Amino acid sequence: MMPREKPSDSMQAMVLDEPGQIVHMRCLPRPQPGADQLLVRIAACAVCRTDLHVIDGELPDLKLPVIPGHEIVGRVVACGANVRDFSIGERVGIPWLGWTCGSCRYCRSGYENLCPRARFTGYQIDGGYAEYTVADARYCFRIPDMYSDIEAAPLLCAGLIGYRALKMTENANRVGIYGFGAAAHIVAQILRYQGRQLFAFTRPGDAAARDFAGRMGAAWVGGSDEVPSEELDAAIIFAPVGALVPTALRAIRPGGAVVCGGIYMSDIPAFPYDILWREKRLISVANLTRRDAEEFLALAPKIPVKVTTESFPLNQANTALTRLREGNLTGAAILIPDL
Ligand SMILES: [Zn+2]
Ligand SMILES: [Zn+2]
Repeated sequence: MMPREKPSDSMQAMVLDEPGQIVHMRCLPRPQPGADQLLVRIAACAVCRTDLHVIDGELPDLKLPVIPGHEIVGRVVACGANVRDFSIGERVGIPWLGWTCGSCRYCRSGYENLCPRARFTGYQIDGGYAEYTVADARYCFRIPDMYSDIEAAPLLCAGLIGYRALKMTENANRVGIYGFGAAAHIVAQILRYQGRQLFAFTRPGDAAARDFAGRMGAAWVGGSDEVPSEELDAAIIFAPVGALVPTALRAIRPGGAVVCGGIYMSDIPAFPYDILWREKRLISVANLTRRDAEEFLALAPKIPVKVTTESFPLNQANTALTRLREGNLTGAAILIPDL
């Protein structure tokens, strides 16, 4: 017989003790799945900008200590008593949305992303900077077979949030994107597949980001301080920079939308009403719903969405986070416990 997973086994994890610190390697007891949960052996966990906001203490109601990470791919090693949809050995993806109440007016009307009692992975529930994690099976997803574990990890937040942000632009044809990181990279591929035009705004002077946006098929590439060649139907802001909101409002046409795609943004400077008038809309995207995940994970293999990644061993999480903070990554950073 194969040796069984011992429930008393320990695991290695990168833990945040206090906001503003780095994460520290710890040896912790391996978690036990509750009745609705899966115990998952983690193969890959992508590093997201939201992890920086968690670590910097910029988000309220943070669980401490916490294991960050919410773009997790792994394999089921044990199932709680109520789990019916997954079995041992199956590959699963674990996203940011970890639990919702199921009974509030948001949960009952298709907006579980706004549930006031929702709990989030790697923030209020221990996440994926570890060898193992537990997750509520009702919020886990199967991963399309064409993706490796490493390739699939960034789909689970950059992909899902990017997809939800793009849905908020409705049928906009000329779509501007401010902040050309992992989410923009995926949205660019969806835009091209759908025959829409991408206008890519990169940090002024960031030649590598300009090249990257050009390779992604952008119709126009410029600095975030530049005026695009055509009026935009919509803009998505992925950079956490409030000063981009008036810039983007000026770039869109009457009736267009500016979508703020991040969980955190620096303060938005005062701006004249004239740049919002003529039925321009300014909206934010919060979290994701399970429906977003189902739709995006069905769409991604058809395009097929491809991701650029850079792998790090789990114990180099701080290096990966620093590189992300400095804008010094060419793709999504992926933590690999077995690297
Ligand atoms: Zn709810
Ligand atoms: Zn994320």
